[in-house]
Amino acid sequence: MIIFRKSGELTIYIEEQRKIGRKIGFVPTMGALHEGHLSLIATARKANELVVCSIFVNPTQFTNPEDLRLYPVMLENDIRELTTATCDVLFLPSVPEIYPPSHQKKVYLIGSLEHLHEGKYRPGHFQGVAEVMDRLLSLVRPHNLYMGQKDFQQCMVVGKLILLLHMENEIKLTVVPTAREEDGLAMSSRNLRLGKNERIKAKSIYRELKYIRDHYPYSNVEELERNARTNLENEGFLVDYITVVNANNLEPSAKGQQVVLAAATIGGIRLIDNLLLN
Ligand code: AMP
Repeated sequence: MIIFRKSGELTIYIEEQRKIGRKIGFVPTMGALHEGHLSLIATARKANELVVCSIFVNPTQFTNPEDLRLYPVMLENDIRELTTATCDVLFLPSVPEIYPPSHQKKVYLIGSLEHLHEGKYRPGHFQGVAEVMDRLLSLVRPHNLYMGQKDFQQCMVVGKLILLLHMENEIKLTVVPTAREEDGLAMSSRNLRLGKNERIKAKSIYRELKYIRDHYPYSNVEELERNARTNLENEGFLVDYITVVNANNLEPSAKGQQVVLAAATIGGIRLIDNLLLN
């Protein structure tokens, strides 16, 4: 695996690979890699000749400075995992490499997705996601981009960004299913920060999502949402939302494909998850 820290060197290499006809698959991450990230790499490996992964803890998408400060960094382990997963290129930029002094901040017209659910609880988060993805996509210019369903709303925002950048004929976004621990907890780098008791409780989010999925077809949705919230609160979670919405626009509407989205904090660690319904 080749490691690039400079964007200029990365783009020269990728351009050479593109010229000789290699299909380029890209997996952007913030590191502290787990099986979820590796399933994106494995999916990319199957369909591309060149697999590029980035590790960049993007400061502009953090709304809580403490969350940024405590974000786990496990670079040696990450490099080992990526090598084993036969990733070809790791891009490991510094903050000034991604946001040099010449970087101009833009406003991305993401629409209502920006302020719903995650956007409501993390103001500015999706502008930060769009900003870093704009930079990374313009450097890597992949044919295929791989992102995890765990971050459902983020996938939709990046899909919208690709349209805003008029890159929809160049880049195909593939959403990879959520990888879970044995007890159902969605894998996340933040799980590393859960205490022992909180880690045991954390599986309840998936239990409540599954209950909603299994009872959704023949139950009152508001009652399901209310009960799930109460169950989690009784176990000590601070619940931001657990809500059934249309999977194509994340608005409440009983029509079309539905998804149940959840965000809840336990022991100071905020966890998100979702399941597709019907
Ligand atoms: P992160 O490092 O958290 O920014 O995640 C990088 C990519 O991995 C994003 O596209 C995430 O959606 C994806 N990802 C994170 N956790 C999981 C998981 N449990 N299963 C599948 N993909 C995941």
